[in-house]
Amino acid sequence: MALRRPMVAANWKMDGSQQLANELFDKFKQLKDDSVEVVLCPPSIYLDSVQKLHEANREALSDCLVRLGGQNLSHHEFGAYTGEISGKMLKEFGCSYVIIGHSERRRMYGETSDIVADKFAMAQKVGLTPILCVGESLPAREANRTFEVIAGELDAVIKKHGTLAFDNAVIAYEPLWAIGTGKSATPEQAQEVHAYIRRRLSEVSPYIGENIRILYGGSVKASNAADLFAQPDVDGGLVGGASLNASEFTTLCRIA
Ligand code: PGA
Repeated sequence: MALRRPMVAANWKMDGSQQLANELFDKFKQLKDDSVEVVLCPPSIYLDSVQKLHEANREALSDCLVRLGGQNLSHHEFGAYTGEISGKMLKEFGCSYVIIGHSERRRMYGETSDIVADKFAMAQKVGLTPILCVGESLPAREANRTFEVIAGELDAVIKKHGTLAFDNAVIAYEPLWAIGTGKSATPEQAQEVHAYIRRRLSEVSPYIGENIRILYGGSVKASNAADLFAQPDVDGGLVGGASLNASEFTTLCRIA
């Protein structure tokens, strides 16, 4: 029997503000539900203040499970890498998770699958749980190459670190054509890919396949979350745009 606690993660990207953090924590006080894990991934400059806000509200939030995550980390451990942030630093500022291989980073910052695999291992090395993003482009979907793309992105990590590395990881399926477009995958499309990912990991470890959490990301909002999250292999969401509205994001946490 799988024990997959639903998760809703907020990826603020290069948006959000101190004000948003305040509003979110005010709303979280009404959640009173620790059956869902809520993860906030603000730009790293806000991690310190969000951590302090969390600390200050610890008592009021004793019934909910709120955690912090980074949006990226360096695949190097330390050193002369101007502008980069290490996994150890994320850890020092209270992060439990880090998003790895978001398509925006793969596309705009030249992150190859090989670098993504190194980041995945670095996250685990410092005690962070990677949230590995995978997803196909529209041309790939139209050419019936969705599974092939997803398999390639998973295999880049598996080849270097083995399937068992997924014992401590979360996967986010984010079709590129659904990110920030307002056009989410249908619940059936999401379910089909999530089930594929689970099957693929199960080939080596049925335990991991059964227990790994697979989030859906791409235009998740209050109006479509219930149908997406109700799919048997969808364990919650990685939310961009809708995480910038405290009421809507809290609604998504309730739905999960
Ligand atoms: P979106 O972004 O919810 O704005 O589509 C999701 C993501 O990129 O993580």
